[in-house]
Amino acid sequence: MIVYQLRCSNGHEFEAWFRDSGTFDQQAKDGDVACPQCGDVHVCKALMAPNIAPSRKRAPVSPEESDSAERRAQEVAEKILEAVGNIRSHVEKNFDNVGDEFAEEAKRIYYGEVEERGIYGNATDEEAEELKEEGIEFYRLPPTGRGDS
Ligand SMILES: [Zn+2]
Repeated sequence: MIVYQLRCSNGHEFEAWFRDSGTFDQQAKDGDVACPQCGDVHVCKALMAPNIAPSRKRAPVSPEESDSAERRAQEVAEKILEAVGNIRSHVEKNFDNVGDEFAEEAKRIYYGEVEERGIYGNATDEEAEELKEEGIEFYRLPPTGRGDS
C-alpha cells in the first residue's frame, strides 16, 4: 500500500491510499480519484509518503557526515591553537617582555628613544587604542585557551 498526498484543481489537499503507484495513475486517469471536499477528479500528487510512518524531514546532513565535520572543525581548532602557541613561544623567546610597560616602551621604540627591538607585554584597551592612533604597529596575540603559565 502507498499513501499519496493529493491536491485537486481547487487546491484541496487530501490523502488517499493505493495498492501501488500504478494503481493511482490508472484510477486518476479514469476519474476514480475524487476530492472529498468538492468531488473534483482532476487530482495530482502533492507529496508522496511511501509508507505508513509519517514522513520525517531528512536532516541536511547524515549523522556520520556531521560527525566528521565536527571532527574536522576540531582538528582545525587544534591546529590554530598549536599555531598560536608557536607564535607565543616564538615571541616569548625572541622578544623582550616589558610587561605592563608595553605601550610606553612601544612608543619609545617608535620615536627612536630606545634601541629598536621586538617587545611584548600587556596593554590595556586604551593603551592599544593610543598606539593605533599614533600609527604604531603591534599585534594582539590571541589567548591560547590553555591558560598562561
Ligand atoms: Zn477539491
